[in-house]
Amino acid sequence: MAKPLPSRFNPDSMARDGTRYDASVPLVQFKRLGPMLSSTVGDVNISAVFSRRKDHVVVTGRLLAGFPLQCQRCLDPFTLPVDAPYELVFVESEQAAAELPDSLDPVVLDDNGNIHVLDLVEDELIFHVPLVPRHADGACNAAPVSFGDIAPEAVEPTEDNRQRPFDALKNLNLH
Ligand SMILES: [Zn+2]
Repeated sequence: MAKPLPSRFNPDSMARDGTRYDASVPLVQFKRLGPMLSSTVGDVNISAVFSRRKDHVVVTGRLLAGFPLQCQRCLDPFTLPVDAPYELVFVESEQAAAELPDSLDPVVLDDNGNIHVLDLVEDELIFHVPLVPRHADGACNAAPVSFGDIAPEAVEPTEDNRQRPFDALKNLNLH
């Protein structure tokens, strides 16, 4: 049985029982993400499982949401499905973060050993907002792409920069 995810948590104590957490957070609660969307109607579904791996606490989970956006090609509204699995390793200092293998995404804990979960989730969600929102190919009502349009390859995140969605957090003071 999943428990509700607290807004702040200490990863070390969460890892002890390996509980799975589930939360549904209204889009309107994300103050930085909201202005990037055409409306804030909807929820973000957050799941998280904490575990220990060697010396670290790891959280793996998934974010599910639908972003209300306006297609920049035909100007009709549409909902972009977002399905974002993530895996994070909690560390206590910048130095510890630097010592991790590149394959792990570190998050540095605050002075009390805590993390503010909405900040973490919001950074990941913002990463999934397209620079130029538009319908998928074939689903758009606008005329076919004409000369001068931005090629799809230019606006899709590459596989490489998808790998490390939490990089920006390394330089943030989480509170
Ligand atoms: Zn469209």
